[in-house]
Amino acid sequence: MSTVTDPSEIIDVLRKLQSIDDKIRSVRQGRDGLLANFEKLNKVLEHRDSQLDVMRGKLAEAETWHTKKSNELEVEREKLAVAKNKLRGVTRSREYVAVNRELHNIRKSLGHREDEVKRLTTAIEEFRATIEMENNKVKELRGQADDEAANNSSSLTEMKGHIDGAEERRAAVSKQLDTGIVRRYNRISKARDGVSVTRVVDGVCSGCNMVLQPRFVEQIMRGSSLVQCSHCSRYLFIEIVHDENGQPSVV
Ligand SMILES: [Zn+2]
Repeated sequence: MSTVTDPSEIIDVLRKLQSIDDKIRSVRQGRDGLLANFEKLNKVLEHRDSQLDVMRGKLAEAETWHTKKSNELEVEREKLAVAKNKLRGVTRSREYVAVNRELHNIRKSLGHREDEVKRLTTAIEEFRATIEMENNKVKELRGQADDEAANNSSSLTEMKGHIDGAEERRAAVSKQLDTGIVRRYNRISKARDGVSVTRVVDGVCSGCNMVLQPRFVEQIMRGSSLVQCSHCSRYLFIEIVHDENGQPSVV
């Protein structure tokens, strides 16, 4: 295929190239957004998983403490049984008073320990329920993430197909242009947010919003030369439509 040389034809091909690049950019943005969202969801899941681990660690500590306190309670109960036995064998009143005081003290201590173990048991049960709830929530979220991954996979394949197709069209369209122009187009595109070709609206470059010199606008209107914006270097074009009588007007 030979390259086009007429300026108005060149700008038409450049516009085609721009529209293909717009499409590629938009699909890529969609793809990046999809991947970023998925990554965010996975990060949230990782964080909640590690929080669950911390909670489970604390629960294990509390359970160890509970076992220790329960054992101490048992020891105290044994002491009570021993003291009660002792009381049955007591004959002298002074000793009776002493053992009774001992019994009283053991009962008091036992009461405290029983309260403590009870409080610990309740706290552990509540904590266990909280962990269970969080665990279920994380499981549910992971299920959603898996579903999303499956959906993403087909969307990503579809997007890749669109991009590949557009790249092929781009290569074919590029062949219609002189390689120097394609290189310049690519350079401007890189420097100007992916937009190398832009429309002139009311004598203003819509790429950089600078007012163009009237002689440039005239040149573009005539289609006699390829014009680049003197401020942003983008290739310029003016949209001309024809009414039913064939009268041209600028859009
Ligand atoms: Zn400009």
